[in-house]
Amino acid sequence: MDLLLKDRIYLVTGGSSGVGAATTALLLAEGARVVTCGRRADVLAQAADRLAALTGAPRDNLLALPCDVRDADAVAGLVQAAAERFGGLDGVVNNAGQSRMAGLDTAGPAEFRDELDLKFSGVLHVLMAARPWLERSPAASVVNVNAVLAKQPEPRLVTTSAARAGLLNLSKSMAIEYAPQGIRVNSVCLGLIDTGQWRRRHNESGNGTPFAEWERELADDRGIALGRFGTADEVAAAIGFLLSPRSSYVTGAALDVCGGVSRGLF
Ligand code: NDP
Repeated sequence: MDLLLKDRIYLVTGGSSGVGAATTALLLAEGARVVTCGRRADVLAQAADRLAALTGAPRDNLLALPCDVRDADAVAGLVQAAAERFGGLDGVVNNAGQSRMAGLDTAGPAEFRDELDLKFSGVLHVLMAARPWLERSPAASVVNVNAVLAKQPEPRLVTTSAARAGLLNLSKSMAIEYAPQGIRVNSVCLGLIDTGQWRRRHNESGNGTPFAEWERELADDRGIALGRFGTADEVAAAIGFLLSPRSSYVTGAALDVCGGVSRGLF
């Protein structure tokens, strides 16, 4: 199915690794133009060269600028640069982030504030800057990358779970309030996805077990129905559909991409 993304313009935050990199690659392969960001300029530049080479897309179709989504002014500059470079904006993927391990025994107000800065305010900064451009698009779509934790909190991830629940709620408000301007807003709720985050955790665990075996044991322990982690490409495919005009009647939805780890009906 042609996703009808050719020549459209998308902003993907956190495109230097994992889900953001896979989404950037999918969009480039579909002929879209992409602006992406990350905090580390060197890592981002290397990723941008790799993604353009991998997809065979013209290097000019990808603009990679360092930006921390927690900084509202920097985000406004990023969105302006993106829209000026390509002449508009058709969609945004709010993906930047990483999980933070913390239980209520260790997390204080500062930890909650940090997490909300990244996973709630970071999204708000992007949307507030992007909205005037999205309003001019004939097929505007926003995808907020979220986690099943938003609906199913975990004890060792309390700050992330709370911030994710707030973002899911905000996403619904955005879907309703932006609908009259023709801007769709949806979420993907991720389970355990094999990306840099998990490779780092495996390394830090000092566990000598090979990653594949460690992953299988964890999938079993967490009760993932499909018995494995997801891949970044599997998440990107869901995001691509939600960005595409093919999902033109879908807004305010939260699509679980979690291999069946979510037990809730909603
Ligand atoms: P990765 O660690 O592989 O990639 C994270 C990306 O975000 C990197 O490009 C990183 O670049 C960027 N980033 C992090 N913080 C910021 C920031 N403040 N401003 C701008 N860019 C930032 O993560 P994943 O691909 O695994 O995760 C992607 C999203 O999915 C995240 O929001 C994550 O919380 C969510 N998620 C992931 C799950 C998983 O199992 N992988 C499960 C549930 C949700 P840099 O470090 O240079 O800034």
